Amino acid sequence: KLFNEVQELKGNIRVYCRVRPFLSGQDKKTTTIDYMGENGELLISNPFKQGKDGHRMFKFNKVFNPNASQAEVFSDIQPLIRSVLDGFNVCIFAYGQTGSGKTYTMSGPSTSKQDWGVNYRALNDLFDISRMRRNAFSYEVGVQMVEIYNEQVRDLLSNDIAQRRLGVWSTSQPNGLVVPDASLHPVKSTSDVLDLMEIGQANRAVGSTALNERSSRSHSILTVHVRGLDLKNGSTSRGCLHLIDLAGSERVEKSEVTGDRLKEAQYINKSLSALGDVIFALAQKSAHVPYRNSKLTQVLQSSLGGQAKTLMFVQINPDVESYSETISTLKFAERVS
Ligand code: ADP
Ligand code: MG
Repeated sequence: KLFNEVQELKGNIRVYCRVRPFLSGQDKKTTTIDYMGENGELLISNPFKQGKDGHRMFKFNKVFNPNASQAEVFSDIQPLIRSVLDGFNVCIFAYGQTGSGKTYTMSGPSTSKQDWGVNYRALNDLFDISRMRRNAFSYEVGVQMVEIYNEQVRDLLSNDIAQRRLGVWSTSQPNGLVVPDASLHPVKSTSDVLDLMEIGQANRAVGSTALNERSSRSHSILTVHVRGLDLKNGSTSRGCLHLIDLAGSERVEKSEVTGDRLKEAQYINKSLSALGDVIFALAQKSAHVPYRNSKLTQVLQSSLGGQAKTLMFVQINPDVESYSETISTLKFAERVS
């Protein structure tokens, strides 16, 4: 009862937990997960502590167990995504340590249809609905894709390398674009989107030694802009959906890293805590929301708070070796949920 009241209070923010399975070859590993409840409970056990003190309970709006399919996860968030057609702004984040399944949830392990993550499914669904409503509404859909690395924003869909680094900022453009300099690409079908995502992924690798390394240390944001025209009364609406694959949340020991790696770690730490602070302030209905503390929260400002809706996937690696990272991920989630 109390929990429901709290949820109502914080209405526009939802936190889902997704536990990834052990991967093949890992089946003999021990898990930190004791129990996953139907009402969003997650019980974690500490491999280093026996007895009552060795367990901790967390509570989410929902917990997806390791067997949950991509389709199941998507069907749960479908209404949220469809609200973009009615002019709502929506942010969907994946948070967790590297290897916990963020990219699996947001993009999927491959581009074959059953593997599709939230991003392809979302666009596919928006196209389906707009086709169904074509006699009553006309929708225009466009996408932007940017990466934030070391507090610098880069356009992942620009052909011109020199243009990729975005320096100019504005949070309230008349055209509704928050990153007005990032190229906006009109899309008409899911295959258009698949093509663009491929370009974006390729551009993400530029200037880095290994794609995986780089992608775990930068935030990637796919923004879907939808403009709707009501054919009966001529009224228009504008909504946008941000799909965010966050940088890995793992903490690095300061003593172990130096130079560029330390700088990267500090930038990631700074932007993830800025995000936590913003969501916390919104959940508390605080008068001051500290958007200005990171590029990530600046880019998303108009889609965090107000009428906008936020969903965070908290990704968990069940391995005992990940125990301390898991606890720190869950503590982050606890603060914002
Ligand atoms: P992250 O983006 O957080 O670093 P990934 O999405 O790359 O993590 O996932 C790490 C590995 O685990 C990948 O091989 C991925 O395919 C696999 N994986 C993650 N989540 C799942 C899942 N729910 N089911 C099956 N495999 C998964
Ligand atoms: Mg990833």
